[in-house]
Amino acid sequence: MKVTILGTANAWGPNPLLNAPWPMTGSLSDGRKIEIRRYRTAFLIETADGKKILVDCGPDFSHQFREFRIGVIDAILVTHPHYDHVGGLHELSLYKATGCLPMPMYATSAAWTHLKDDLGVSPIVGKLVTEMPLTFGQALKIGSLTITPFQVEHHAIDGASAGFVFEENGRRLLYTGDFRAVSNPDDALFKQSFDHVIMECDRFYGLAGPGIGGNHNSFEEAVQLLTNGVFSAPAPKQVTFVHFGDHGPKGLGSTYQDWRENMLAGLQANGLADVMPDADRVVAYEGMVIEL
Ligand SMILES: [Zn+2]
Ligand SMILES: [Zn+2]
Repeated sequence: MKVTILGTANAWGPNPLLNAPWPMTGSLSDGRKIEIRRYRTAFLIETADGKKILVDCGPDFSHQFREFRIGVIDAILVTHPHYDHVGGLHELSLYKATGCLPMPMYATSAAWTHLKDDLGVSPIVGKLVTEMPLTFGQALKIGSLTITPFQVEHHAIDGASAGFVFEENGRRLLYTGDFRAVSNPDDALFKQSFDHVIMECDRFYGLAGPGIGGNHNSFEEAVQLLTNGVFSAPAPKQVTFVHFGDHGPKGLGSTYQDWRENMLAGLQANGLADVMPDADRVVAYEGMVIEL
């Protein structure tokens, strides 16, 4: 499978009123420069047999569609019904010229209810998207890719937030979606080795619990999950963090390089060098490609 990161930002993206640099540049290990847009978090998965699956469709979708030449997709997976993950669904009218509409869109029943009743998605059901079910623990297959949704704690609406395990040809990728915790960390799904984990990381320092920011994972909390939590036994062979918010390692205005240097140092200091064999893949940026 091939993953292309389409967006890396939190709910609102970079805000000049909060001193956020935009667009942001960064340097990889070999000195290669990257430009970081901080579009809202989403990614594209291409399967070995040529299917394209969009994971979340936020309000930056039309820009991502053009910039990354996404082309015709076969399905959409929705992690949860927050605007930054579904606010671009009406933009799927870009596909009217292709005849591929409505396209299958998978979300849990709780998410579908909220999407239709509260987020204005009803008018496009049957026109741009087809309502498809998603049940925690029940694998579905798109082309040669097996996708198993698992429940995470994030949303005030019970059962509306999912992470995904993607499996193809013996390779395993996990995406947490937005989360403050995995609901069933003892599930056998997490006991087998992952080639790659893409983990939400909204802020650098932790604010555990239901307080401000408590619905999201932080880098500090990620270190705990990787050292003695759900992603520790076995630890993934590579981790990538995504969904960056305002509160970076140097506070408001933190740059890609600030996130990168502090995350690499933090993983190293906590004995987690094994989860970052490729230092350039630890901090997600728009256009990053992961091939498994
Ligand atoms: Zn989000
Ligand atoms: Zn969210």
